[in-house]
Amino acid sequence: MKNLVEFSRKYGSDPELVLAGGGNTSMKENGVLYVKGSGCSLSTIEAENFVAMDLEELLKILEKEYPASDREREAMFLADVSAAKLPGEEEKRPSVEALLHALFPQRYVLHLHPALVNGLTCGVDGEKIAKELFPDAIWVNACKPGYTLAKLLSDKINPETDTVLLQNHGVFFASQTPEGLEELLQGMLSVLKAQLPGELPEVLEDVDLSKPFTPDHIVYCGVGPTLPETANAHLLYRDAQKINWYAKAFGGPLPLKKELVEFILNWEAESYRKKKA
Ligand SMILES: [Zn+2]
Repeated sequence: MKNLVEFSRKYGSDPELVLAGGGNTSMKENGVLYVKGSGCSLSTIEAENFVAMDLEELLKILEKEYPASDREREAMFLADVSAAKLPGEEEKRPSVEALLHALFPQRYVLHLHPALVNGLTCGVDGEKIAKELFPDAIWVNACKPGYTLAKLLSDKINPETDTVLLQNHGVFFASQTPEGLEELLQGMLSVLKAQLPGELPEVLEDVDLSKPFTPDHIVYCGVGPTLPETANAHLLYRDAQKINWYAKAFGGPLPLKKELVEFILNWEAESYRKKKA
């Protein structure tokens, strides 16, 4: 647990890797998944902010059938995820990506939204370039987060998978050790840096708020016409500007699909996170 708290804080407090308390981490031990609680900040996380969950119960969700309607499915999924918490954890709410964390057989999982990585995941040619640069990584096209994403990945992740790139969202790394996570992350960042035309300019061009790149931009910057006057909104706007610039090295910027923007705007799980933050 000490390791988990330590590396969570380290990555959570680096604004190049994750902003506004976003991102999440987990550890598995003796059939229990310890995953970050929804809405907790990774940079200041304490051991008690992790939610202890029965791994086997959590993975049983993948065998269930859920309704097609977003509202019904998400409500049932939330109830089933909640039921997989260990006794004593009732008051806590796990990260929306808890099930995806459970899918990796490795002990530690790290999920981040680095602007540089999102230059690739939000690039028009992101998938093609990712396959060339990271042939062993899994690429997932933008889809609804939470249940839909985990279900989609459930038959793609194998024991050798240590990297998953999520289009218009971020990256997952999995390893038996925290050092292994660091190696995966630094390896990816240095490969991506080598693709850039030079250093990130001081002054970056404006981005269109009505065309967000990732769920975080929707949650904190809104979808226009003006940027909310909050510190997080300004941080995430700067992040969107960076992604916009980085994405030029990967075929040009590609915003999130309209239907996904709508889904995130109406998703109860995101309004919960926003409220907590
Ligand atoms: Zn994320």
